[in-house]
Amino acid sequence: MGSMLVDERDIRFVLFEQLKVQELCGNGKFSEFSGEVFEMVLAEALKFAENILFPLNIKGDKESARFEDGKVYSTPGTKEAYQRFVEGGWLTPCEDEEIGGQGMPHVIMTATHEMFFVNFPFMCYVNLTHDAAKLIELYGTDEQKRLYMEPMYGGQWTGTMALTEAGAGSDVGVGKCKAIRKPDGTYFIVGSKIFITNGEHDVAENIVHMVLARIEGDPPGTKGLSIFIVPKYRVNKDGSLGEHNDINCVGIEHKMGLNASPTTSLAFGENRKCTGYILGQEREGIKIMFHMMNVSRLEVGMWGQSVCSASYLHALNYAREREQGMSVAKPDPLKQVPIIEHPDIRRQLLTMKAHVEGMRAMLYYCGYAMDRTGVAEDDEERQRWGRLVDLLIPICKAYPTEKGVLFASDAIQIHGGYGYSSEYPVEQFMRDSKVACIFEGTTGIQAMDLTFRKLGMKKGKVFADFLAGMDEMADRADRLSGWKKYADQFRKTKNALSEIPSVLAEHAGKGTPVYPFLKATPVLEAAGDVVVSWFLLWGAVVAQEKLEALFLEKGAEDSARQEELIKENAEAAYLAGKVQSARFFIGGVLPVTDGKIEAIKWGDCSAWETQDRSFGV
Ligand SMILES: Cc1cc2nc3c(=O)[nH]c(=O)nc-3n(C[C@H](O)[C@H](O)[C@H](O)COP(=O)(O)OP(=O)(O)OC[C@H]3O[C@@H](n4cnc5c(N)ncnc54)[C@H](O)[C@@H]3O)c2cc1C
Repeated sequence: MGSMLVDERDIRFVLFEQLKVQELCGNGKFSEFSGEVFEMVLAEALKFAENILFPLNIKGDKESARFEDGKVYSTPGTKEAYQRFVEGGWLTPCEDEEIGGQGMPHVIMTATHEMFFVNFPFMCYVNLTHDAAKLIELYGTDEQKRLYMEPMYGGQWTGTMALTEAGAGSDVGVGKCKAIRKPDGTYFIVGSKIFITNGEHDVAENIVHMVLARIEGDPPGTKGLSIFIVPKYRVNKDGSLGEHNDINCVGIEHKMGLNASPTTSLAFGENRKCTGYILGQEREGIKIMFHMMNVSRLEVGMWGQSVCSASYLHALNYAREREQGMSVAKPDPLKQVPIIEHPDIRRQLLTMKAHVEGMRAMLYYCGYAMDRTGVAEDDEERQRWGRLVDLLIPICKAYPTEKGVLFASDAIQIHGGYGYSSEYPVEQFMRDSKVACIFEGTTGIQAMDLTFRKLGMKKGKVFADFLAGMDEMADRADRLSGWKKYADQFRKTKNALSEIPSVLAEHAGKGTPVYPFLKATPVLEAAGDVVVSWFLLWGAVVAQEKLEALFLEKGAEDSARQEELIKENAEAAYLAGKVQSARFFIGGVLPVTDGKIEAIKWGDCSAWETQDRSFGV
C-alpha cells in the first residue's frame, strides 16, 4: 500500500486529468511552471508530510504545548520543523517573487496543504503567519510591510488572529477590547482575548497579533471594529526588536485534542503600555479581517479533508491486515478472512473513499477558481470565478470538517477495540478533528452564511448558474454504458436542491420568517452532498473514458478479461475504483439527500414552536 495519508494517484487524477491544471501554465502568470514541476512539488511535499510532520503530530499529542510562568513551550522539534518548512519555500509558495514567494498556483498549494495538514497544530503556525502577513500585504502601509510583513513571510516571526473574547465568540461584534488614540497616531490597546492560537510560544522571536478592537467613541457592533497590528515586542524603525509590548499570556486551554497547539488567553495593556498600529482605515476591521477569515475557512476545510483521507487510508490498511470471521462468499469456519471481505466493512470503506475523493476535487476546484481569478481576461470573468469561490467557502469549510469527525469515528470502528486504544493514531484523529467544526465560524454560522448571503448572491443567479452548469456532466454520463440511471438520480437531486431558495422564501413569506434559520444546517448538508456528487460524477466520466481506452489497448474485450485486468493492473484498478466511488455516492447517498431536501421543504417548525420550558422541566 502507498501513503497512509493521501492517495497520490487520486491527487494527480484530480489535478491533471479532471481539472487539467497544467493548462494554467500556458498563461503568462504561471508560464514558468509545467505539469512536471507541479509533480516534483507534490512529491517533495509528501516526503515532508510523511517524514517530518506526521511523526511530529503524533509526538505533539503526548508532549503537548506547556505553560509555565507566563511562557509557552512548544512540542520539541516544532521550531526546527518550522525553519525547515520556511527554508523549503512552503510558507509563501503563491506570493509574488518580489516579496519572496514563488508565484505558484493556489491549486497546487491546496494539494500540498492536504498533505501538510496531517499536522494541523504545526500548520497553525504556518497559516496564521501567512494569512496575517497577507493582510498587511493587502492593506498595510509601505512601512508596515517592511517592518512586519517581511519578517513574517521570511519565517522569523509568526502571526495570530485575535478576535475572540469571553463574551464575544460567534458574535464578534460585541467585543470589548478597546483602542485609545495617542497623539502620535498609534493606539493604546486594552482588553482580553481568549482562545488565541499561538498567542504565546517559543517557535519564533516575535509574534504579530492582528487584533480586533473598538476605538473609543466608535459605534457598537461589527461596524465599529477596527483592526490593529499589535506585536509582542515593539519594532524599531530599523526593524530590530524593541521593548516588550505589555501583552501577557495568562494561560492556555486544556483541550480534548490538538494538544500541541497552544490556545492562549492574552491580556493586552494591563499596564497601559500596549501599542497597536491601525491596519487600513478606522472601522474597517471586519472587512479586512474577513479576508483572513475566508482564507482560514478554506484552510480549516482542507484540514477536515486531510483527517478524512488519513482516517480512510489507516482504516483501509487495517482492514486488509486484520483477520476476523469467515467469508460470506465462501463460508469456511476454519478460515478467517481479512475484514475487508465483510460487506459492512466494505460499505464503510467506500463511504469514506467516495467522500474523500469528491471533497478533494471540490477543495482543489476552489483553489483552481482562485487561480482563474488571477488569470481572467476581463473583469466579468474575474468576478464570476470570485463569486464561485464565495459561494463554495461555507460548504468547503463545514462539510469536510463535519465528515472529518464522522470518518475518524468510522476509522476507529473499523479498527475495533484497537482503534479505541492509543496504539493506533485514529483515536487522536477523532479528538483533534472536532474543533475544526467550531473555530473559524461554527458549522451553524457557515450554514447561515450559505443560506442568507451566498444563495442570494446576484438575486440567486450565482447559485442557479452553478447548478445549471452541472447538467453538462450528467449529459456526458448519459452517453456511457450503464450510467443513465445514475445520471438521472443526480439530476433529480440537483433539481430538487435548486428549488430550496424559493421554498425557504415561501415559508418565510407565509408568516414563518424563522424558517430559513431552522433549516440552514440541513440546507448546507444537502448542498454539500450535491456539490460533492457533481465532482464525483465528473471524475467518473473522465475515469470511465480512460478505463475503456485501457481495456481496448490491453485487448480486454469481455467482462471476464476486464475483471482480470482490474485485478492485475494498478491503473485499471484505480480507474475502476474511481467509477465505483461515484456510483456508490449517487446510488447510496443522493437518495438520502432527496429525503433531507424533502424534510427541508416539508415545513415542520417544532424546534421553534417548542417552548423553552418544554425542552426539559
Ligand atoms: C482550539 C481553539 C482555537 C481557537 N483559535 C482562535 C484564534 O486563533 N483566534 C480567535 O479569535 N478565536 C479562536 N478560537 C475561538 C473560536 O473561533 C470560537 O470558539 C468560535 O468562534 C465559537 O465561539 P464560542 O466558542 O464563543 O461559541 P458560541 O459563539 O458561544 O457558540 C455556541 C453555539 O451556539 C451557536 N450559535 C452562536 N451564535 C448563533 C446564532 N446567531 N445563530 C445560531 N447559532 C448560534 C454556535 O454555532 C455554537 O454551536 C479558537 C477556539 C478553539 C476551541
